[in-house]
Amino acid sequence: MAKADADSAKPLFDKIALIGIGLIGSSLSLAIRRRGLAGMISGAARSKETQDTSLRLGLVDAIESDPAAAAKGADLVILCSPVGTFGAIAKAIGPALDAGAIVTDVGSVKTAVIDDVAPHLPDGVHFIPGHPIAGSEVSGPEAGFAELFDDRWCILTPDAKTDADALSKLVHFWEQCGARVDVMDAKHHDLVLAVTSHIPHLIAYNIVGTASDLETVTESEVVKYSAGGFRDFTRIAASDPTMWRDVFLNNKDAVLEVLGRFSEDLAALQRAIRWGDGEMLFDLFSRTRDIRRNIIDAGQETPVPDFGRRGPKSPEE
Ligand code: NAP
Repeated sequence: MAKADADSAKPLFDKIALIGIGLIGSSLSLAIRRRGLAGMISGAARSKETQDTSLRLGLVDAIESDPAAAAKGADLVILCSPVGTFGAIAKAIGPALDAGAIVTDVGSVKTAVIDDVAPHLPDGVHFIPGHPIAGSEVSGPEAGFAELFDDRWCILTPDAKTDADALSKLVHFWEQCGARVDVMDAKHHDLVLAVTSHIPHLIAYNIVGTASDLETVTESEVVKYSAGGFRDFTRIAASDPTMWRDVFLNNKDAVLEVLGRFSEDLAALQRAIRWGDGEMLFDLFSRTRDIRRNIIDAGQETPVPDFGRRGPKSPEE
């Protein structure tokens, strides 16, 4: 084979290590396999069940309980476990990493992750934090699918010292996984995600909690009449408790900042309802409808009026 052909047949990375094989880790494995991006995939999982499932589904070529064993010899290591585990994992894998290796993550929070991970990585290892804005309320290694990242954004948060070649290789990797890539400052990421993801989850957890605690409305009534809107919140409120506990504990400042603003706006709505200010309510509800349209126009949602009324598979799927 000519050298150029041999190079083009070579995978982007010789060995990719996935530390944590849940929804995101398993989807990454399938997206990597879809495009042949790795010579081999090693995985690290804590429980025997996840280890066995990962092997059975062919998500990894080798599985370890020790993250350092999985990361050894890898030229790309991706942390895919809950954010609160990253510090201990970075400490464990640090000594096993080769110079030139890229370490990234998929965590939903960036500033706290950088503080936890960066101090444990040796010189010569390129740490480039990342966050694919794609996911769902389901978890575990059986939940993954190769298309999860298709046409979704992945945010990378390098700093001024990040190696340009390593960054462009990681951008290329995510693009090959189907994603579009944006680069931004870690602090800005945390604020944007507090608005678009963390506060919506907090609101969903709160409303579902409130409904289940109301003494005057029975639980069976909450379930029976849930199609009035409540059930759409329950989808988000069914998200993984460990992952979301870690998100709120690790993005405290941005979440509290946005929550302050949210509480003020809620108080204004309360006042409008009390004083019968229909114009204020109508204006807001019209603006919010436009935002939904913009999301559909941007390809981040479909206009199909599904809302769970059809079976698990819609005709488009
Ligand atoms: P998940 O489905 O619950 O999977 C988490 C995985 O981490 C499991 O394989 C679990 O293995 C493993 N794990 C848990 N504790 C660990 C530890 N101490 N050491 C090593 N592995 C451990 O979670 P996910 O939805 O894939 O989320 C993973 C990461 O992606 C999180 O950091 C999250 O912030 C981020 N993220 C999630 C979404 C989303 O919508 N789900 C979207 C974007 C980013 P065992 O079961 O064996 O313990």
